[in-house]
This record gives sequence, C-alpha cells and structure tokens, in this order.
Amino acid sequence: MEQVVIIGTGCAGWTAAIYTGRANLSPLVLSGTQLGGQLTTTTEVENFPGFPDGVMGPELMGRMQQQAEKFGARVEYKKVDHLSRGDDGHFTITTDSGEEIKSQTIIIATGAAPRYLGLENEMSLIGHGVTSCATCDGAFYRDVPVAVVGGGDSACEEANFLTRFASKVYLIHRRDELRASKIMAERVLANEKVEPIWNSGITEYLTDDDGEVRAVTLENFQSGEQSELEVKCVFVAIGHVPNAQFVGDLVDLDENGYILQNSRGTGTKTPGVFAAGDVADHVYRQAITAAGQGCAAAIEAERYLADSE
Ligand code: NAP
Repeated sequence: MEQVVIIGTGCAGWTAAIYTGRANLSPLVLSGTQLGGQLTTTTEVENFPGFPDGVMGPELMGRMQQQAEKFGARVEYKKVDHLSRGDDGHFTITTDSGEEIKSQTIIIATGAAPRYLGLENEMSLIGHGVTSCATCDGAFYRDVPVAVVGGGDSACEEANFLTRFASKVYLIHRRDELRASKIMAERVLANEKVEPIWNSGITEYLTDDDGEVRAVTLENFQSGEQSELEVKCVFVAIGHVPNAQFVGDLVDLDENGYILQNSRGTGTKTPGVFAAGDVADHVYRQAITAAGQGCAAAIEAERYLADSE
C-alpha cells in the first residue's frame, strides 16, 4: 500500500513529489507518456523565479526530478487508465497494462494536452506538417514558410522561436488583437519575419504527393473570403485540454473538463484525492502556479494522512 501516488511529472507533480518526499512519505510518481510535462516542449522559461537569465524548460524539469528523487520519490513510467475507491476507503490506480496500485492518497497533476483545430485530416497530418510543438519540430522547417495558429502567449512564443529557422512565419489569429501578454505580443509583432493574418482561420490542410502539408486554405471571418496560403508546416497553439479523462467519478469536472477543486484549495470532492496544476487550473496556468499547487496538494495529502491515523 502506497501512502501517496502522484500522477504526472510536470511542475505540479514534481513539486508535490519534493514535498511529500521530504515528509518521508516515499511518493510513487507515475509519469505517463510525457516525462516532465509541457515544459519539456518549450524553450527558454524567463519567468520562473530564481533564474534571472532564464532556464531551458527541459533543464528545469530535469532538476525538479533530481530534487524529488533525492528526497525518496520513486518514478515509474506508467500511464493511468482509471481510478477507483474500495470499501476500505483506499484507492486503486489501474494502469493501461491492467496493473493495480493501491494508495491512501492520490495527487492528480496530469496537466493538459495541446488542443487542435478539429479539421478532417488533421490527426493524420501530425508529423507531416501539423504539430503543436515548435521546439520539437521547428528545426525541420528551415528556409520555408510556416504558420502558427493562435493569439496567446504560446502562439507568440512559438512564432518568435520559429523565425530562427523558417523563411517566414504567418501568425494566423481569429481576431484582430492578440490575447498574449503585452511583452510577448510586442516582441512578436516587432519581428520582421512574422506576418500576422488577422480575423482568419484555417479551414483545410492541403497536401502534396507525399502526403506532406504544402498549403492551407484560409478564411477571413469578416469578409468570408477564402484564399490559399503556401506553408510547409502549421504549428497549432490554441490552448490545451486538461488530461482528466481517467478520473472516473472520484472527482468532478467543470464544463471544459478541468478538475473542480474544493474551497480548501487542492482537495476534490473525494477526501484523499487532490488535484494540482493545469489539470485543474484554467485561470493562471503558469509553471510557478502549478508548482505552488503541487506544494499545497502535498501538504494537504500529508495532513489527510496524519488525520486518518
Ligand atoms: P490561451 O492563452 O488560452 O490562448 C489560446 C489562443 O488560441 C487564443 O488567442 C484563442 O483565441 C485561440 N483559439 C482558441 N481556440 C481556437 C480555435 N478553435 N481556433 C482558433 N483559435 C483558437 O493559450 P496559450 O497561449 O497556450 O497559453 C496558456 C497559458 O499559458 C496562458 O496563461 C499563458 O499566459 C501561459 N503561457 C505563458 C508563457 C510565458 O509566459 N512565457 C508562454 C506560453 C504560455 P481568442 O484570443 O480569440 O480567444
């Protein structure tokens, strides 16, 4: 029987592991398919306190993992299929291979996954000119035009990053104003290689004989005009969907699929089950707020265990 199982290895998960590790709870951390979470697919993180010169996302996550393991966290590379609770009040975490792990508490810190546009051939084009990760795929598109879709911080960050490789970066946004923070918006709009395309969206991906994206059909939402734009890759940066599909009825979700936390902070409707980070937070969604919630969830789990003794 585990005392704490932490599901997820982003900022929230590793911070929860550091705190529960230091509380001698020997947390078991289940990493899922993407060790290190969303920050492993980003470049430089400039706003995580303590790093005045910035830090690379993967490095930050690697350091968090080291810190968690130093205090006794054990990492297993397993994906959770579903959660349940037995008559004894203990929880069962069932992995996708059917293994059952029993625990007294669970901290869900599974973050969120990139949202896509939902176009017909989109999923089959991932890796063939459609992606959500500039850091992963940007370098494959040197000296060719590419597009980024979205108007938030992610879209601006990706567009800026892609100017290192691409001949031109079209920033396609459905409105005529960026949602991104002022500093990010100003930076991207000042970049000569970035051309914004306002009030527009992609309605179709067009492919070449090899099945790779060669262009997109654009619609201007104000005029209704359709046009073709030649790009070799589309980087979709339109937000995320929380990874909470496996939680069953142990926790409630809001209308967008985010886990509902109780008024005490990171608790859920089930005592002993806590949620931290982007899987529950649709407001702040920052690395540091996720880490903060991971800390809070760890402290609450520790108190819950002490109270149940
Ligand atoms: P976001 O802020 O939710 O922005 C999503 C963007 O995609 C919005 O501009 C939205 O348009 C657009 N969009 C949503 N659905 C769409 C659809 N179906 N079709 C076309 N466009 C669509 O998401 P994000 O940029 O991923 O940022 C998430 C959070 O992470 C934010 O809190 C952000 O501050 C943070 N973040 C911070 C940094 C940083 O500080 N370095 C970097 C990346 C992300 P509308 O504007 O019209 O709604």
